[in-house]
Amino acid sequence: MMKTPCRAACKNEGGICSGCKRTTREIAEWREMTDSQRDAIMSELEGTSMTHSCAKCGQPVHCDISAGKDTCWCFSVDRREPLKDASTCLCRKCLMEQPFA
Ligand SMILES: [Zn+2]
Repeated sequence: MMKTPCRAACKNEGGICSGCKRTTREIAEWREMTDSQRDAIMSELEGTSMTHSCAKCGQPVHCDISAGKDTCWCFSVDRREPLKDASTCLCRKCLMEQPFA
């Protein structure tokens, strides 16, 4: 069976699923991904693969840019207000809760 973080509590919050915290793009492309691509995203969601800690809640965050990629998962979601005085990106949950920009 294909691995999935889906908790059957899907609600699209401006491009992020409030249940599993995947972006709507990740959800749409999930079936086409390889097992290793899916494993990589699962690790990011679980916090076992991280680049820094969330500026707001301190939970692990995986920034694809910091990890050396050209794009980041956050580019595909609706833009949010940045957190004041934060120099690094928020985690998926905190970003989801920020007001739309
Ligand atoms: Zn956070």
